[in-house]
Amino acid sequence: MKFDKLGLNNQLESGLDMMGFEKATPIQEKAIPIILQGKDLIACAQTGTGKTAAFVLPILSLLSEKKQENKVKALIIAPTRELAKQIDMQIEGFSYYTNSSSYPIYGGGTGPEFENQKQALIKGTDIIICTPGRLMAHLKFNYFDTNSIDYLILDEADRMLDMGFYDDIITIANKLPKKRQTLLFSATMPLKIRKLAQNILINPENISLAISKPASGIKQSAYLTHDEQKIKLIKSILQKQKKEKALSHVLIFASSIKSVKEIKKMLNRSGFKASDMHSGLDQDQREETIRDFKNKKINILVATDILSRGIDIKGIELVINYEVPHDAEDYVHRIGRTARADNTGEAITFINSKQIRNFKDIEKLIENTIPKSPLPDYFKKGPKYELIKKKKWRKR
Ligand code: AMP
Repeated sequence: MKFDKLGLNNQLESGLDMMGFEKATPIQEKAIPIILQGKDLIACAQTGTGKTAAFVLPILSLLSEKKQENKVKALIIAPTRELAKQIDMQIEGFSYYTNSSSYPIYGGGTGPEFENQKQALIKGTDIIICTPGRLMAHLKFNYFDTNSIDYLILDEADRMLDMGFYDDIITIANKLPKKRQTLLFSATMPLKIRKLAQNILINPENISLAISKPASGIKQSAYLTHDEQKIKLIKSILQKQKKEKALSHVLIFASSIKSVKEIKKMLNRSGFKASDMHSGLDQDQREETIRDFKNKKINILVATDILSRGIDIKGIELVINYEVPHDAEDYVHRIGRTARADNTGEAITFINSKQIRNFKDIEKLIENTIPKSPLPDYFKKGPKYELIKKKKWRKR
């Protein structure tokens, strides 16, 4: 459906043109009319579906019809700094031709940055996009008048609860006017999200897009491999890629900061230029790394799950899961970093003998059997794809 059928304010048309948006995605088609009617909404949608614009566009449309005043009117809460920044950038793009202002508020910056955030809250930027922790830090000082807020949007709510922000979100919601519109976006709908929704939304409409299915453009495969073979295997995969086409964008996920650092070191030693991304880096380093990866200055990025959600980097051709993600949903998010917006991409997962059950859970969740590739000829044999039987202890 074309955007002009959705009832958005005309001022947004030029912004849509500038951003290259012609037709609405399914989540936009469903969510925009509901939000424009002023209803609360629970939307179950993965990243990559266009969910950011699904709430940003109607909020900008509603704001453009309100009178101009220097007060914060919409609060968007997102789990990570990177996502908060990305949402802010989309708002900047769409709002170029409207009068709405926005400001991202997240931790990790310098003293002057905290002061700038404080000014954005005091002077009344229309839309504040924030991480929960940093917003709580500002709320402690009482200079942020929350009475003018008409819209509360929670993005990636399930991720925020996984990160332990349930209480903070409730505290923040309780500080806002009771008469407001609340939108909750989440990739999954576990019980704790329903509980949160009951506490902070009123008679919400529900939208659910097919969950937990990787985009069809992703070619998935896996290797059964012992841990000590994994670095050698990455090198073999990268060398093969290099031969077939100029290697451009590869994202390698590992579960801990320690293994991210190790993989990066091993790849650098082997002549591959790789960088790392994890929460142990300071904010400037994190931003520089993302920028360099987006601009293709960095070809290979090794990251923790900090990059698995929401982050939109175009043209990632290959995602490698160095370990099977513990949570089956995380698999879908991680490999969703490739094949964004109808492109194609490849995702390869390494399975060691202890993670076979986890991988079978993933196959069950996505209702698909992922092909297992044979290790290169010169490799020692890998584990078999069968569950390790528990030893039975006989009583003597
Ligand atoms: P999201 O799920 O919000 O992270 O969006 C994923 C990507 O799709 C982003 O690069 C958006 O800019 C892009 N996108 C979202 N909606 C549309 C649309 N209607 N037309 C074209 N691109 C879109």
